[in-house]
Amino acid sequence: MRSITGKENIEDSCANILTDESNLAGAWCDIAVWPETSVEAQAFIQSSAKDGVPITVSGGLTGIAGGALPEGGAVVSTSCMKKIEYEDNGLIKAEAGVTIEELQRFISSEAGQFFYPPDPTEETASIGGTIATDASGADSFLYGSTREWIQKLELVLPSGKLLEIERDQYRFEDLMCRHPDIGTLILPKLSRKQSPKNAAGYYMHPDMDLIDLFIGSESTLGLITRAWLKLAPVPSFLFDLTVFPEDFVSFWNLFENLLNTGDSLLIRAIEMMDDRCIDFIRSHSGDFPLPPENAHCALLLRAEAWNDDQLDEALTAMDEILEKSNVSSETAWGGFEPSEQQKIRDFRHALPESVNHIISEARRECPSIHKLGSDGAVEPSKLREYYFRTREILEERNLPYVIFGHAGQGHIHANALPHSLKELVLAEEAMREIAAAAVEMGGTVSAEHGLGKLKVGFLSLMYTENEIKGMESIRRVIDPDCLFSRSLKFP
Ligand SMILES: Cc1cc2nc3c(=O)[nH]c(=O)nc-3n(C[C@H](O)[C@H](O)[C@H](O)COP(=O)(O)OP(=O)(O)OC[C@H]3O[C@@H](n4cnc5c(N)ncnc54)[C@H](O)[C@@H]3O)c2cc1C
Repeated sequence: MRSITGKENIEDSCANILTDESNLAGAWCDIAVWPETSVEAQAFIQSSAKDGVPITVSGGLTGIAGGALPEGGAVVSTSCMKKIEYEDNGLIKAEAGVTIEELQRFISSEAGQFFYPPDPTEETASIGGTIATDASGADSFLYGSTREWIQKLELVLPSGKLLEIERDQYRFEDLMCRHPDIGTLILPKLSRKQSPKNAAGYYMHPDMDLIDLFIGSESTLGLITRAWLKLAPVPSFLFDLTVFPEDFVSFWNLFENLLNTGDSLLIRAIEMMDDRCIDFIRSHSGDFPLPPENAHCALLLRAEAWNDDQLDEALTAMDEILEKSNVSSETAWGGFEPSEQQKIRDFRHALPESVNHIISEARRECPSIHKLGSDGAVEPSKLREYYFRTREILEERNLPYVIFGHAGQGHIHANALPHSLKELVLAEEAMREIAAAAVEMGGTVSAEHGLGKLKVGFLSLMYTENEIKGMESIRRVIDPDCLFSRSLKFP
């Protein structure tokens, strides 16, 4: 197993493990290791546990909340754990370091009739990282988050114990679950239902499956070394349509009409980019297509059909909805061809990439600047109200920003783009207020990125003191010395 010790040696020879997409500065560690097998990872974690060394787990480092950045101790990187196999039972067995891109390539060569639905846009994300954050993507509107696609996990617990947990093997009953190797876990009673799309705190439902506690636990409950992934059959037709409404009134009409389509249209994804995004993309040249001249904002729709009749019905429904919403299809992009679909994907990806670029540029002038994006979600029917409240909070502070995201799930990212320390402080204040606004509307402070280091303070906006204490007790059963990802999940 490759390893490097010494803070300076690590900074000199593998500084990449000290940065991720959060752009947070100040990460450091004393030792970094790259296990190639679960057994190597286990041996290292066992000896670290004996010596009381804190551990940070590092995957593809595409995380936005800084969860994979160490604050001393050891980093265990999964980037050399790359084995992947197609099992007879239709599952894919993948080690934690396999990236989404590698997985997709493997599936198209070995099991082309299937696909793996979780697709968090950034294809260099690792399987382990996407499970630890319960990542979602555009298609989660129809297919749910990563959680839905995990059949079994192999984990190294903070104690160094290596174990497998399979779905339907252990369940909570009346908030309690006993596992011979883990102990007795008791869930806190929640004062309100968790949002359907939620990445803040642990997943908690009174009769849930034990495997679901580990999914989305942001590495606070151990290292995921391997996962058995479920696949979905590829539909007969998949079509993308990106329309560019000329004003907000028609955009919101279209959005709300789409939410009420019923069965005539099998929608996979409804994504949005607001007017600020369109202006921002226009002003940043790159290897991506530019929106039409009169576009005010964009709505990206993806739908599927399983036979010709269903396709005809869907296309007719789509035309009717566009007409009813007063949105023209003349300037729309889309179709069935992979090249059109790639064009839309490039367009969608251009935005977070350009935001990251701007933040990196701003950091040259002011090193404390980091990425500041909201991740809240509300009921889709309340999205219009949440969107305008978000905008108001940013505009009250005169901050530059863009807002985009997974509209179909009531989930948007407002990215503030601070250029100075003063704007950074204002943006931090705004992010907290936006998170509180989501909670006030019955939603969540984080729907997919997790709270990481950046937003751990938002937990108390959403959970009571007792609920937080209850989650902390679960963590202490599994990691009594709090060695794994110490500063994550709880303030
Ligand atoms: C341009 C861009 C677009 C994005 N779009 C989306 C999106 O649409 N949806 C979405 O959900 N996310 C999105 N993200 C965020 C990011 O891709 C996801 O959070 C992803 O799941 C992180 O995976 P990773 O392997 O990079 O994890 P890392 O960044 O390495 O780590 C993230 C967290 O997971 C933990 N972790 C990593 N591997 C393991 C493991 N094997 N065992 C236990 N814990 C582990 C880390 O300790 C850390 O807490 C986007 C990011 C970028 C840069």
